[in-house]
Amino acid sequence: MDGNETNKKYYLCCFCNTLIESAHGDPSEIDILINITKPKDKQYNQIFYCHMECFREQLHEEIKMHFVLECLIKTTDE
Ligand SMILES: [Zn+2]
Repeated sequence: MDGNETNKKYYLCCFCNTLIESAHGDPSEIDILINITKPKDKQYNQIFYCHMECFREQLHEEIKMHFVLECLIKTTDE
């Protein structure tokens, strides 16, 4: 094992529970903040990692229509 491998990060998808390869916008991060209507000291956040496609699949059909990140991925991946 060389020095570079020890610094490599691995990301596990919170939806499908598999490792996320680096490609096509992945890995992606979900930073969830709870209690958003409460004071800052009552708010808490946790970060999850996911495949962008797994995240998109979880969205309601009506919400998917407003999901704009797919377009950004295609333009930034090139
Ligand atoms: Zn996944």
